[in-house]
Amino acid sequence: EKTLNIIGGGMAGSEAAWQAANAGVKVVIHEMRPKVETFAHRTGNLGEMVCSNSFRSDDHEQNAVGLLHWEMLQAGGLIMQTAYKHRLPAGGALAVDRDPFAESVTAALKAHPNISVSYDEITELPEDGLWIVATGPLTSGALAEAIQKETGAEALAFFDAIAPIVYKDSINMDVAWMQSRYDKGETEEERTAYLNCPMTKDQYEAFIDALLAADKTEFKEGETAGYFDGCLPIEVMAERGRETLRFGPMKPVGLTNANDPENKPYAVVQLRRDNALGTLYNIVGFQTKMKYGAQNTVFKMIPGLEEAEFARLGGIHRNTFINSPTLLDAQMRLRSRPNIRFAGQITGVEGYVESAAMGLLAGRMAVAELNGEVLPPVPNTTAMGALVTHITGGAEAKTFQPMNVNFGLFPPLEGVKGGRRGRKDRYKAYTERAKADWQHWLGQTALDAA
Ligand code: FAD
Repeated sequence: EKTLNIIGGGMAGSEAAWQAANAGVKVVIHEMRPKVETFAHRTGNLGEMVCSNSFRSDDHEQNAVGLLHWEMLQAGGLIMQTAYKHRLPAGGALAVDRDPFAESVTAALKAHPNISVSYDEITELPEDGLWIVATGPLTSGALAEAIQKETGAEALAFFDAIAPIVYKDSINMDVAWMQSRYDKGETEEERTAYLNCPMTKDQYEAFIDALLAADKTEFKEGETAGYFDGCLPIEVMAERGRETLRFGPMKPVGLTNANDPENKPYAVVQLRRDNALGTLYNIVGFQTKMKYGAQNTVFKMIPGLEEAEFARLGGIHRNTFINSPTLLDAQMRLRSRPNIRFAGQITGVEGYVESAAMGLLAGRMAVAELNGEVLPPVPNTTAMGALVTHITGGAEAKTFQPMNVNFGLFPPLEGVKGGRRGRKDRYKAYTERAKADWQHWLGQTALDAA
């Protein structure tokens, strides 16, 4: 008999189980709660939301998360169906009544004839059978150790220190210029990997003042262990001395301002290409604990970024995740141990919705494998496909950081207006293309029929 084992009954594990069970596969969910607790979960329910009660924007017409909602609904997703059942009024957002939501997810899974739940902590990567690891940002210590033993210490992170990510088309290229430090790089691609924003002395001093004054989130007890040496938040660097950043991530050496070659910048903010498409750039070394509102104001003081739009803002959190671009194949399997798939936040996506989405896909991929088939690639024009393509290869492996779904991950559309003014039209066009391609893919793969 075909059995799929899933470790973790959170957003991803619950959705993976539902998809596989509906396709006729026997599923065992292994969930450590309530026996073993995490610092954020409060109950023993499957599908528990640990913090906010929102699945974010429910705009199915021109928002990337809303589009992901729609795609999951089309695929019979349990998390989305249940969310709509327990929806609370929240304007354009999909907010839910969290306890009835999780109770309802738990009840649906437990009532399914193909699903059983085993309340145990898994502490090793299993040798036999087909498995999905969906243990999330708070993966238990023992299992994290086992994963680290398999992948190497470098490939498993316990924190994310996220530098803000900017849409390339919102950067003013009359001010910024493209150049790698000391013009390093063999290929055109390497030489165009960096954008630079120049600062005068006055601009630098004002920027440091703003950093020092900005609203910040405090670190929680125990949160700083193990990360602090490698990647200090920029505001902490600024506190150590006004020149620290100018001799660190903002050093102006090895660069010549192509827009103003006569004047040597006093400091330079560098941005590095963040995806293969070249639509997203991250601000190098700019991990931060500034609150989102403050980031929006302070980062727009950087010349060239006055009108910047952020695909995601910076942050530092406790988060266990693997370097998916190097470790996983396109079917989300561990290359070194192909009987094991990863799904959810541990793959380097961020958020309830994205995690559930990667569970949906991993569940379907596992079913296909049990049936001796391979699912055709999900088109990267869909929200689901854009995300999975990003984590399994589209992202830069060296700087891989957890990612929300956003339109910067989508291949650009021919013949649609660029720039700020065209943005709404462009998002609508992305969404329409995605919907058609997702329907087509679902039709092609039609697992639900089994
Ligand atoms: P989870 O939902 O965490 O599920 C993983 C499951 O695996 C858990 O039930 C856990 O008990 C279980 N488990 C772990 N290890 C083992 C083991 N060894 N054996 C058996 N079971 C195990 N996202 C948002 O969208 N909005 C937010 O506001 C938000 N706030 C957050 C706040 C905090 C403090 C944290 C830590 C995360 C937050 N997130 C938020 C991220 C969100 O939690 C995840 O995106 C989402 O829950 C991930 O889904 P998942 O299925 O990958 O992991």
